[in-house]
Formats: sequence, structure tokens, C-alpha cells
Amino acid sequence: MTTPTSLPADFNEFLGNTSTVESLRTAIAAGRLPHSLILSGPAGAGKYTLALLLTMAVECERQPRDLWSNGQTLAGFCGHCANCTRIATAANLGEQVAAAVAAREELRETDKKDTRVLIQPHPDVLILPPDPPQLLIKLGQVRTLIQRAHYLPAEAPRRIFILTAANMMKEAANSLLKILEEPPDTVHIIILAENPGELLPTIRSRCALARLGALPVEEMEMLLADRRPDVPPKQRSLIARLSQGAAGRALAFDLETYTAARADALIFLRNAAAALQAGSGSGAEPDNSTLFKMTETYRAGADGQQKTTELLRAFSLLLEDLLLLESGTPELLRNIDLRADLDRLAEALPFDWIERASHSVDQVYSGMRRNLLRSLSLDAFAGQLATPA
Ligand SMILES: [Zn+2]
Repeated sequence: MTTPTSLPADFNEFLGNTSTVESLRTAIAAGRLPHSLILSGPAGAGKYTLALLLTMAVECERQPRDLWSNGQTLAGFCGHCANCTRIATAANLGEQVAAAVAAREELRETDKKDTRVLIQPHPDVLILPPDPPQLLIKLGQVRTLIQRAHYLPAEAPRRIFILTAANMMKEAANSLLKILEEPPDTVHIIILAENPGELLPTIRSRCALARLGALPVEEMEMLLADRRPDVPPKQRSLIARLSQGAAGRALAFDLETYTAARADALIFLRNAAAALQAGSGSGAEPDNSTLFKMTETYRAGADGQQKTTELLRAFSLLLEDLLLLESGTPELLRNIDLRADLDRLAEALPFDWIERASHSVDQVYSGMRRNLLRSLSLDAFAGQLATPA
């Protein structure tokens, strides 16, 4: 998951999904935040950020309130007290998980097995990320949650547990069910889910659901016009589509890096299209030298993984656009500046090829998650793509 490096200073800086955020703030102000809550929404919608802001609002020593003209009271947080500041240190979750995993690698084999990755920014706040390498929430993590849930909060009003993903091992899910059945009064459990359907129905039925939707393109364009007036309108329009409804992603979007990654992704696609046409006897031989020259640049150094991730992301968006063209919905295209190229590629690449390519991308991703990057070769990936079905 992508996580922010710093948090919004208040709820008004959390972009989009206003009514969902307001209803949660109202619930906190009234002391009615559900004990078990699923926060769902696409990647980049701000689930983790919002979970931390809600946690701060519950735990803040000063408990500031916004009073609205309609009489509604909304909970806020001060951002400066000992509880707020400690909770805010969990903003850079990705880095902290990486550090915890690295520390575990240093342990003896016997201790490694029993050490679960947990992030604890505050004595009463525990964050459970999916545990690498399988990237599932494990039984040991949930056991720790249950054990701690039965103690009264030490320094803040409540104990809050945030599960940053919905994918759990079966035993972990079953174990979590028990605490969801009858959560202690002083406990809140927040589960972040890209797709709540991944959770056991029995877990879903015991949790309240708050949904963060992707923002519509028009809203993203307005947001960008407001916050990034320095970016030319044509580019803003492109960014609004490429960031897939995630406000945070749109504001931080680096179009230059994306365009460079996309240019490389297009080499894969053009090469595959040429190979397919050559295979069917029409068209010229594909130009592999351009392809190999490009993949060559992905081997060097520690930046390799980041660069590969950018490439795969751009590649996925191009594949989605090709599917949109083939399904006759060009108005939903994201790479709107490439319409002519995409039309040509959609002509050359059949539907089942695109499906296979999506599958190959998933495989490279999951290999990268297991830190197998060194054993992966983009040339092999290219070879897969160039093989006719
Ligand atoms: Zn505070």
C-alpha cells in the first residue's frame, strides 16, 4: 500500500468523501464510533490516513469540536498533545514495516518464527500490517490484538487496533471473529479493505462499514485547478484521469516520471503487437534491439525496484485503456493524450492477449512483493508478452 509521509493538519484537509468523514466525526463526538469498523475504498483513497485521523480524534487529550450551524457536533483533534503526536508518528507506515521486517531478519531462526510485524506508535494504539513474505495478517498478530484488547487503556481513552489490509490467514480471521463477537467497551477495531468481499461474511456482518469512494474526474480536475494551478490545464486533465479517483495520488502525481515509465511500457506493447503481426504473416519483424536497450536500463542499482514498479503501473493503465477501447467505452480512457497510439494497439492486440498480459503483470508484482526482483528479468517478461497465444 502507499502511505502518506505526513498527515493532514485537520479533517478539512482530508480530501473528498465529505459525508462519510462527517458521519464518522459525528459518531466520535457523540461517543458512538462503532467498536468494529470496516473502512473500504480503492488504493490511494486515503483509508489509512483517515484511520489515523479518527484514532487521533478519539484519543486526543484536548478533544476539540467543530460546531455546525445545523447543530451538528463534529469531533476533531489538536495534533499537538502527547497522544496526537505519538499517533501521528505512524504516518510513514511503509518505512516502519520495512524497518520491523529488517529487524526480524537479524534474529535467530527460532525467534524469527515467533516475531510478528506490529507497529505501535502509542501504548494504546496497535497497527497490524500484512506480514511479509506472504503479506497476510497472521494468527500471531491477531492473538496479540486479542490479548491487549482485554487490558484497559493505559494512557488514552480507548484502545484502538488498525488492521491495514483485509487479507488474513484463515486461523487469524477465525480468531478475530471471537473478539468482534463481543468487543470490550474500551476497544475499537478498524479494518482497512480495498475489497470488503475478501473478508469472511461473518466478519463483515459484525462490523459497521464506511466507504471511501473514488472521486469523479470532474471533482479531481477542480481539486487540481485549486491546489496545483502551476500545472497546465491539459496536464491537470490527464492527471485527474491517471490518478484513478484518489485525491492524494492526484496532488502528488509526478507526470514526468509517469510519462517516462509509460514510454517504456509502450515499447513492450508495440513490440508485442509487431511480434503478433509478424507471426500471422503480416507486418515487419519486431525491433527487439529497442526493447533490450530499454530493459537494460532497469537492471542497475537500488532504484531498479522503484523504476520497475512505475513501469508496471503505467503498463497496467495502458492495458486497461486497451480494454476500454475494445469494449466500446473510449470516453473512460485515462491516457487521453495517446488516443491514436491506443487505437492502433487495440487493433493489433486481441482481447485474450491483453488478459494474459494483465496476468503476467500480476505475477511480476507478486514476485516483487516476495523480494524476488533479482531473479526476475524484464526480458523474460517481454518474451512472455511476445509469445502468441
Ligand atoms: Zn491532541
